[in-house]
Amino acid sequence: MRTLLPHAELRDIALRPAATARVWLGAGMPLETVAVPGVALAAGDALVAVELSTICGSDVHTARGDRPSPMPAVLGHESIGRVIALGDGGAQTVDGGDLRVGDRVVWSVTVSCGTCDRCASGMTQKCRSLAKYGHERIEPRWELTGGFASHVHLRRGTAIVRAPESLPAAVLAPASCATATAWAAVARAGRELDGVPVRVYGAGLVGLTAAAIAADLGARVTVVDPSDERRRLAERFGAEPGAGVGAPKVVIEASGHAVAQAIDEVDVGGTVVLVGSVFPAAAVALDAEDVVRRLITITGVHNYGGADLSAAVGFLAGRGRAYPFGDVVGAVHPLADADAALAAAAAPGAPLRIGLTPR
Ligand SMILES: [Zn+2]
Ligand SMILES: [Zn+2]
Repeated sequence: MRTLLPHAELRDIALRPAATARVWLGAGMPLETVAVPGVALAAGDALVAVELSTICGSDVHTARGDRPSPMPAVLGHESIGRVIALGDGGAQTVDGGDLRVGDRVVWSVTVSCGTCDRCASGMTQKCRSLAKYGHERIEPRWELTGGFASHVHLRRGTAIVRAPESLPAAVLAPASCATATAWAAVARAGRELDGVPVRVYGAGLVGLTAAAIAADLGARVTVVDPSDERRRLAERFGAEPGAGVGAPKVVIEASGHAVAQAIDEVDVGGTVVLVGSVFPAAAVALDAEDVVRRLITITGVHNYGGADLSAAVGFLAGRGRAYPFGDVVGAVHPLADADAALAAAAAPGAPLRIGLTPR
């Protein structure tokens, strides 16, 4: 929890009409509408008016009560919006540029201190005083903490990335979760992937995005998913049809359900990147002798650093335009219908993302 600054150091911003947050009060409870008439911005903070938020699978898990989460909370950590106010002294983008009112931006899931040993080593997503959008108990002076709202109060220590005006909001909203996480997962496998057989488990948005990023680096990508429809979609994201030939040199496990297979089938000297195991599941037996003898690397990726988010936006704005990221949002609901939107996102056969818009 952040230490509140003395009030004199905060810049009060009145909102007329008041900002709206849809607040989650626990599994099975309808979201409550809370009016937020103003915010107090500290130095380095920014207030963003949300253009579009998308509902991630982890919001669905939280809302259903599949995993413990603090409440009351404003869910949502995938958003695109526009800066409407800044704390005294302004705020900066992740690359050190000055943020301006009117900038269209995406921002990291995490808020980091920037000074602890983990932040200093580049592991900002594991900061010792971490906060996460969409995952915090709301508190006085920090109510607008998630994307299920008309505005989000970005705190100093958030990686903020300017987003191109030309890209649709539906492409950009998932950048701060799926795209940046996929970027970090592929980076962990190494970016020398030209001609390398890569297998991706799970054709959710992280898996599909990882497929596209790897394919763009020249990898020969196969995607494994129980859904025929999703496997066909994966081909539009750069995957080759079928199971591929031979053992993959890199396996990206983005489903959380195929960890044992991923470790089993990776080639000698290969790397398994675990990124989908973000919910409680049975432990997987590990044959240590097999890991040793086959010289394999098993590594985990959770969230990402600011540079990954910046690179992810760069990818979406550049070479990523070759892939159908514009099709991932199947429906957009008004913020007032956030309960229906959550239900739609949780339904069997749901599109990759459901959007929420305050307008
Ligand atoms: Zn997410
Ligand atoms: Zn830190």
